[in-house]
Amino acid sequence: MAKYTPMIEQYLAIKAEVQDAFLFFRLGDFYEMFFEDAVNAARELEITLTGREGGAEERIPMCGIPYHSADNYIARLIEKGYKVAICEQVEDPSQAKGVVRREIVRIVTPGTVMDARSLGETSNNYMVSVTEEQEGCFGFAACDISTGELFVTRLEGTITLVTDEMNVYHPSELLGSAELLQKLRDNNPAGWASSVVMTPRSASTIHTAVSLEDYFAEAELAALPAEAKACVRQLMTYLQETQKRSLAHIKHIRVYEQNQYMIMDPFTRRNLELVETVRDRSKKGSLLWLLDKTVTAMGGRLLRRWIEKPLMSETAIRERLEAVERLYHQLIVRDELKQALKEVYDLERLVARIAYGNANARDLVALKASLRQVPLLKQIGEASGSGTLAKLTARIDPCQDVMAWIDTAIQDEPPVSIRDGGMIKAGYHAYLDQLREASTNGKQWIAELEKQERERTGVKSLKIGYNKVFGYYIEVTKANLPSLEEGRYERKQTLANAERFVTPELKEKEGLILEAQEKMVDLEYELFMQLREKLSAHISRLQQLAELIATMDVYQSLAAVSAANRYTKPAIGDDFELRVDEGRHPVVEAVMQDGFFIANHTRLSREDGSMMLITGPNMAGKSTYMRQVAIICLMAQIGCFVPAQSAKVPILDRIFTRIGAADDLIGGQSTFMVEMMDIQVMTEKATARSLVIIDELGRGTSTGEGMAIAQAVIEFLHDKIGCKTLVSTHFHELAHLEETLAGLRNYCMAVKESGRQVTFLRKLIPGAASTSYGIYCAQIAGLPGGIIDRSYELLHAFEARAELLQGESEAVAGIGAPPSDKPSALQEAQMPNRTELPLAADAAMPDAGAAAAEP
Ligand code: ADP
Repeated sequence: MAKYTPMIEQYLAIKAEVQDAFLFFRLGDFYEMFFEDAVNAARELEITLTGREGGAEERIPMCGIPYHSADNYIARLIEKGYKVAICEQVEDPSQAKGVVRREIVRIVTPGTVMDARSLGETSNNYMVSVTEEQEGCFGFAACDISTGELFVTRLEGTITLVTDEMNVYHPSELLGSAELLQKLRDNNPAGWASSVVMTPRSASTIHTAVSLEDYFAEAELAALPAEAKACVRQLMTYLQETQKRSLAHIKHIRVYEQNQYMIMDPFTRRNLELVETVRDRSKKGSLLWLLDKTVTAMGGRLLRRWIEKPLMSETAIRERLEAVERLYHQLIVRDELKQALKEVYDLERLVARIAYGNANARDLVALKASLRQVPLLKQIGEASGSGTLAKLTARIDPCQDVMAWIDTAIQDEPPVSIRDGGMIKAGYHAYLDQLREASTNGKQWIAELEKQERERTGVKSLKIGYNKVFGYYIEVTKANLPSLEEGRYERKQTLANAERFVTPELKEKEGLILEAQEKMVDLEYELFMQLREKLSAHISRLQQLAELIATMDVYQSLAAVSAANRYTKPAIGDDFELRVDEGRHPVVEAVMQDGFFIANHTRLSREDGSMMLITGPNMAGKSTYMRQVAIICLMAQIGCFVPAQSAKVPILDRIFTRIGAADDLIGGQSTFMVEMMDIQVMTEKATARSLVIIDELGRGTSTGEGMAIAQAVIEFLHDKIGCKTLVSTHFHELAHLEETLAGLRNYCMAVKESGRQVTFLRKLIPGAASTSYGIYCAQIAGLPGGIIDRSYELLHAFEARAELLQGESEAVAGIGAPPSDKPSALQEAQMPNRTELPLAADAAMPDAGAAAAEP
């Protein structure tokens, strides 16, 4: 005999299908959870845990939520990284023999959310599927089911390629074999794995895998690289399993090669604060925040993608710059464009909802309103004088037929629900119009009856009302009951001071009215579904339109920001040279409260040297400067104007940065270890076309070792790779490298000294700094005066001792060091093994006095 009641047995059987999800089990007007699910859900959702008899001795833990507010609870669970399986009654309970049949109709997972509540408007929600075809060859697919976008590529090399790519998309869910997921977890440099739900897929699901031919047209599949087929299949199989419905909006596969875009590792993306800040991971303060003047949600998402994927094609970059330039100079056109775009809703997600089958009549009205703008957008694009925009608008299919279909069918302000009628316009469907007339006539008849009954009884307060349980009724107050004719009225309901009655004629009319209404609602629903179905067939057209509109929006945004901040058009060169005149850091400049941002030049070329060694005290502006160079290059490669008086920018294949301390705590690794691992990646992946930025190279270990590693790394990048390199360091002793490395130039941040007062001028000047001003920084940080005085005292003592030591070593070597070499003495004195480092006296230092001078 079964241990539980049949319903609980049914529950357990269904639950067995979805071990890793909460099962929302429909019981009448509630979704119930049982057993462990109930306990966990009660905790996570802060709802009351109850119990119920289930046939066994102990009561079964249970909790429930009303079905109409389920979306809220689902959203909360998804946000916490859970999955929710929704199990509905799939037969009419009144027809059921035994337990009502129930089935899972959909599994909501973090990567398959369709509900607007859980989706950030201006960010995508990606699900990534990865497979390893053979050792070192990966298939990679990223899909946003809320927009229908699907990006696919193949990656060849180490697993870090996969993590790099993962960071372009910030997926919320990741599919792969358990083994591969573990590998990815182990390769978790920027801590991304903590925020992604990993869904292991076993090899056995390959047997139940869907066929790609069922989803994609032949032409789409032809473009798909063989190595990426399995990962797309893995994705579509999972979507089929969880969504259990057609996904007609996932039609187009965008195949790309990783090297079509500039590659950045996770740290670089974070360090440069492309889409969020390092400190609090908010958009505010990031490059995206600065550049985002888009007015549509899809424009916002596209801009984010442009920033995450800077282009490598010179032609494509030039094309974008051309559009931005035209709009930059035409304020009126830009404004017109912006106004027109303001009326456009989130087409991508509207269209996805239509295909997915959860669009309501309001969504269709929003689609209509958006389509109404298209002819105007087309006109603006054509009139802009931009070749790029003209080409773009030529591809626009205005979809006015789609607009007309909606316009003739759907009311201008329909209700949210598609089950209650009130959506379809008069004149759209003859039978619906007839039913409406019947219903309206019926209501008139009732108003008439009310009048007659008042006259008949003489009761002025008599009224005819309606409620869902009792239908139409005649209501008379208790005091007036004697006025009613005996036998004519049938009692229906007694209230505190009134009685409700019906008459046979009222009952008959009620039947007709309700029938008409029911038919009307059903018919409206049917007509709505037909229309939605019809629109589904035009998804591709609408999706393409959405993308073109989003692109126009991004152009207007980049142009608006460029114009507002006096950016200039960069010259794009496919050669080595990087030249920036009066460059600024766009975000630091934008958020500066007081004072001006000090602009600085950059020259990196074969002639001017490809390596800058920047020394100078803390807070002098070194890291801001280095980031600024990277960001200017990146902005140029996304097709935006740059914060500089003029700039010539080469196409970079990669940017590497090793900056800042904020990331170092992630993963519990020491600062030094993290730095070394980053530098290892750099040495392996950088090419002559890369830009490498290292802040405070060699910190985190002993001075001697730090300096030794710093020098060795600099030499390696200089000799073996020849990439553009910006290095900042505390070790002003390294300045001597300028003598031996042809491509290296010393720079420092100018400071003005008077007594113990130091002013940072934030101007980059040639030459090396002479001191770190560490004690000065301690002083501005507010350390007690006693500590500051004592520090200076000790410093002078160390320096005196170092000079002494230096004198001895010179006596040994028999060579005199130049007098300007003095500042290095302190560190040299502390170095454990001086003789092994070529820093000693024979390395002539350039003039280190520059920093102390007043420029
Ligand atoms: P460092 O890396 O040398 O320690 P930072 O680059 O962090 O110094 O800069 C220190 C501060 O100086 C920052 O708060 C920044 O806002 C400001 N700053 C940096 N560069 C400039 C500049 N060119 N003009 C104005 N302010 C700047």
